[in-house]
Amino acid sequence: MKTPFAQRRRALQAQLAKEKLDYLVVTHPPDWYYLSGFTGESGALLVSRAYAILVTDGRFTVQAREETSGVKIHTQKGSLPESIGKLLLATGKKRVGFDPARVTVAEFRSLKKAAGQSIQWIPAPGLVNSLRMQKDPAELAQMRKAAILAGDVVSGVLKLLKPGVREFEVAGEIEHRMRKRGASGPAFETIVAFGERSALPHARPTAKRLRKNELVVLDLGAILGHYCSDITRTVYVGRAPARIRRWYGAVLEAQAAAIAAVANGVPCGDVDKAARQVLAGHRLEQYFVHSTGHGLGLEVHEDPRVARGQKRRLEPGNVITIEPGVYVEGVGGIRIEDDVVVHANRTEILTRVERDLIEL
Ligand code: ZN
Ligand code: ZN
Repeated sequence: MKTPFAQRRRALQAQLAKEKLDYLVVTHPPDWYYLSGFTGESGALLVSRAYAILVTDGRFTVQAREETSGVKIHTQKGSLPESIGKLLLATGKKRVGFDPARVTVAEFRSLKKAAGQSIQWIPAPGLVNSLRMQKDPAELAQMRKAAILAGDVVSGVLKLLKPGVREFEVAGEIEHRMRKRGASGPAFETIVAFGERSALPHARPTAKRLRKNELVVLDLGAILGHYCSDITRTVYVGRAPARIRRWYGAVLEAQAAAIAAVANGVPCGDVDKAARQVLAGHRLEQYFVHSTGHGLGLEVHEDPRVARGQKRRLEPGNVITIEPGVYVEGVGGIRIEDDVVVHANRTEILTRVERDLIEL
């Protein structure tokens, strides 16, 4: 079977040569999946400039053999850091990179102890991240499906938003519908927030019942074939008052401005600024309490960050969310979120659901 994994390892190996590293220890599960296809729950991938070794324990060795190709499988003996350390010691290689964001202090101590004095540990942050940011056509095809699934679920559950329904009932139904359509699960804990609770950007569903004349924020995502989607829609139950319509219009305009700013080569901070400037024009900037968006892929939050001052430039293959919002304590919140792909000469919106204010 032809897989993209070997190709990705080759791209990483070219980076290792550039960074003058003999090995990279990959300890973050989405990173090792990306490089090998292994979906086990415990392990580490050691990538040298010429080969890769997957270290995992007896529970996962059969699975590792089935899921990977061109990767040596090494069965863990003792703790995982001990096994990795001893393996590295045996190779006689000197410069070993690791991602400081992905190794705990305790793991690092065990690694160092097992590997001995001869190894030089080099912090090498974000090497796999920067590859993962550039999605290939097969990854984009999968993300399109994940986004369409999430959008269909949003559209479908609107009929459930009747006075009396509880937040957790709607959240449960959303996650059930995602799974029925083949998702392996939600990409994050589904947000369903009614009324004043919608002013909390990351509200957890509660037993609160929906009443007439309330805002509803639905923020959900599905994992489909390993890839995440992430969409938010805000609706009003009843006829929205003028103030809510004004805020909604401002958020929609901010989102459109940010999407219009997305292009190959544009710094992420400029996309964030485009949204913020629109809200400032409506005197709502102080109610926009988070960044404009985030990268999306194997994880729901990954690089690049679409936040104030971010200098990293967008590149073809990047997938980001654009999700401005306004949150007014005691009243409610409005957020509109879509998933966007950067191509060389155009922008593609993956989530396809009506964005105008829906009144139920
Ligand atoms: Zn979201
Ligand atoms: Zn998001």
